[in-house]
Amino acid sequence: MKIIAMIPARYGASRFPGKLMQDLGGKPVIVRTYEAAKETELFDEVYVVTDSDIIFKVIEESGGKAIMSKKEHDCGSDRIAEAVENMDVDIVVNVQGDEPFTSKSGLEQVLSVFNGADAEKIDLASLMTEINDWKEISDPNAVKVIVDKDNFALYFSRSPIPYPRDKNVAVQYYKHKGIYAFRKNALMDFYRLPMRSTEAAEKIECIRYLEYGKNIKMAISNTQGIEIDTPEDLVRANKVLKETKNVSVNNKYRNFPMVPKVVFGSGSFDQLTSIISPERKDKAPFIFIVDDVFKNNQEFINRMNLRFNDKLLFVSTAQEPKTEQVDSIVKNIKAEFTYAPSGIIGIGGGSILDLAKAVSLMLTNKGSAADYQGWDLIKNKGIYHVGIPTISGTGAEVSRTAILTGPEKKLGLNSDFTPYDQVILDPELTVGVPKNQWFYTGMDCYIHCVESLNGTFLNEFSKSYGEKAYDLCMQIFLEDNLTEQESREKLMMASWHGGMSIAYSQVGVAHAMSYGLSYVLGTKHGIGNCIVFDYLDEFYPEDVKIFKKMKKIHNIEIPQGICSNLTESQMESMIDIALSLVPLWENALGDDWEAIATRDKLRNLYLKM
Ligand code: NAD
Ligand code: ZN
Repeated sequence: MKIIAMIPARYGASRFPGKLMQDLGGKPVIVRTYEAAKETELFDEVYVVTDSDIIFKVIEESGGKAIMSKKEHDCGSDRIAEAVENMDVDIVVNVQGDEPFTSKSGLEQVLSVFNGADAEKIDLASLMTEINDWKEISDPNAVKVIVDKDNFALYFSRSPIPYPRDKNVAVQYYKHKGIYAFRKNALMDFYRLPMRSTEAAEKIECIRYLEYGKNIKMAISNTQGIEIDTPEDLVRANKVLKETKNVSVNNKYRNFPMVPKVVFGSGSFDQLTSIISPERKDKAPFIFIVDDVFKNNQEFINRMNLRFNDKLLFVSTAQEPKTEQVDSIVKNIKAEFTYAPSGIIGIGGGSILDLAKAVSLMLTNKGSAADYQGWDLIKNKGIYHVGIPTISGTGAEVSRTAILTGPEKKLGLNSDFTPYDQVILDPELTVGVPKNQWFYTGMDCYIHCVESLNGTFLNEFSKSYGEKAYDLCMQIFLEDNLTEQESREKLMMASWHGGMSIAYSQVGVAHAMSYGLSYVLGTKHGIGNCIVFDYLDEFYPEDVKIFKKMKKIHNIEIPQGICSNLTESQMESMIDIALSLVPLWENALGDDWEAIATRDKLRNLYLKM
């Protein structure tokens, strides 16, 4: 069955002209509605059908599909009918352009009736919701509907129906919601049939179907959307959007998962085989994604103890993980095995740990990893995944994100399904890390602590982890009187705590600017943070002083002049990327961050680096 969504969009709505182009959290209302419909993943295609060049253009520009209607139309159904006349589709769902919070569950309900026992009889389906307040029941703006025993519509009216002559009979009133799922034939019939007087009198489109003997099946929905009919509705919608965004991106009461199982200690790597064996599902392999520095280390490979058709993938970390790299690994796994793997094991630094998390997620979520860069876009739980760090500092082993560079942005797959199911912390695995790299990745941890502890999002939860990690970094990088083994063990725990510290907080200026370097020049995360942090005394004065001391103690050179030969467009793009990371700036500088982090300020800082 081919199912499409059509969003009729008239520019000059009578009550609130131009309402579909009003700003809702930085995007026009109609774009929000389009994206919401698309995100439900219920439709083969989603289109906006409009009479307006402006709406057409804004949908196309945001990557959506729009159709210009050729004729003048009295109502949305006619507009849709004209557009689908020559399309090969079975079911057409009209989504209201002014309902930007269109919920998946409502649409699912209206579509589900076509799978019921009486599906054959149904010409179209629509939604109704219970109402109990007499004020609403008697309000002519709310269309009421009554149904038969099988929920087929008997009549729609602006009057209260049924009329409550006997007040002792318990009747449930229902309000009609303007979402329809039409069989294409029913829609085309509607287009051709003339309006009759009952429809004209009530001014309710769907009465026409009843007048011509069509069967309308009603499904009950209890989700209340927000319809934007007035400027006040728009203010309310903006508020709702801000609140929902804050819940997922921000910090007030975040409900986040933590890694449920972790083992620590030198030699703990050898526990891997027994840890994963209960997760092995018959013939389904484990896929080991391993940093290719270990490629010639046969002893290490033997310790992984691959069985049956387990697969070992060595991956270069010369570049940080990309969405297309994730897509291609997933594609290969799917091509090679007909069943889903038993698990994904990531062994390496932050690059490999993020890559393995992303592969686990993309095996169960369709499309490209690029579609999921952002907060809470992942829909399905990933494959069982185990993380084993071989260098310490990023906190990627504990975090809720898998940072990827995509075609348009560098941003993580940040979701409740991202954290590892199991982590093995074996400090011995970090023995071979080169000195410079040890410092760069270690400083990632130090900078996580500095940015979290100095941020406006800080609370006691974050602070308790951040302070511990900060203290460990001081012991490791400043005091320098530890044995190598102590130092390795402490850094592994600092990385963990630093990661936990930002779980309830955010990073800040160094990370925002380092993302800019990384996107434009491919500068790696750890070294990029060091390059930037060296010049951030305005934001983190004491901690930058300490950083410079650490650098000196360990004799570390930081590359200089990397931005001196940038083209103007590279510089602009670097600044754009850095400034796009709004939560990072909000954490670092508070609500008024834009007044402080100006384009000029960023440009001057980059030019020094
Ligand atoms: P990395 O994973 O790229 O590794 C750095 C280098 O160290 C590589 O050359 C690697 O081959 C080498 N290496 C690793 N283990 C080794 C070992 N035991 N012996 C010898 N060499 C070894 O770098 P990283 O700094 O660990 O991670 C950076 C990545 O982490 C970036 O992609 C960044 O975006 C990501 N990151 C993620 C999070 C998160 O929360 N998910 C947080 C911070 C950074
Ligand atoms: Zn970092």
